[in-house]
Amino acid sequence: MSETLSFSLVEIFESLQGEGRNFGRPCVFVRFAGCNLSCSWCDTDCKEKFRSSLPDLVAEISSFKARSVVLTGGEPTIVEGMPELVASLKEAGFWIAVETNGVKDASWLSFVDYVACSPKVEYAHLYDSPMSLKAADEVRVVASSPASADFCRSIREKIAATDYYVSPCDRDGKMDFATAKSVISELGNWSLSVQFHKILGFR
Ligand code: SF4
Repeated sequence: MSETLSFSLVEIFESLQGEGRNFGRPCVFVRFAGCNLSCSWCDTDCKEKFRSSLPDLVAEISSFKARSVVLTGGEPTIVEGMPELVASLKEAGFWIAVETNGVKDASWLSFVDYVACSPKVEYAHLYDSPMSLKAADEVRVVASSPASADFCRSIREKIAATDYYVSPCDRDGKMDFATAKSVISELGNWSLSVQFHKILGFR
């Protein structure tokens, strides 16, 4: 089975984690193609650029210096072959983080080291599903509107996490800090997470 796995990818690169609790950690970022949502403000390219077999993907990830890997997208939980990839990366000694929108839970998530969930207010109803994610290490909500505070409260009831963050919405390269600050002030128990990689100029 693992010999026939073929992953649909956008990019693989090494950088520092730019947001959340692991800010500054050197990581290999693996961006998978495809997403199960279509957020209006999405600035992520989710179209397939190349494909890779499991052994080739693990070899490419291992060719970088960083011993931490972030599996991101797009949406990793809709990617086939993730249990095999996670097992191979663990065997190779990697610390593994996953970034997900949380609409879909996946059993293999319990084998990774860190789950960062970024639920989307535009798809609030999907987080009522029994199939959605129920636990993560960190939850990050983009403050796309002042109504995001209500969404944050409801998400905190649905997804158990250690840290809860609000991020400013980035529209056309401009971060909306004012809305993020007002949402955080209203909540009182969430923190600010900024996409520092955009401000500091790394990927
Ligand atoms: S979940 Fe993320 S990658 Fe998917 S459409 Fe929304 S912002 Fe884009």
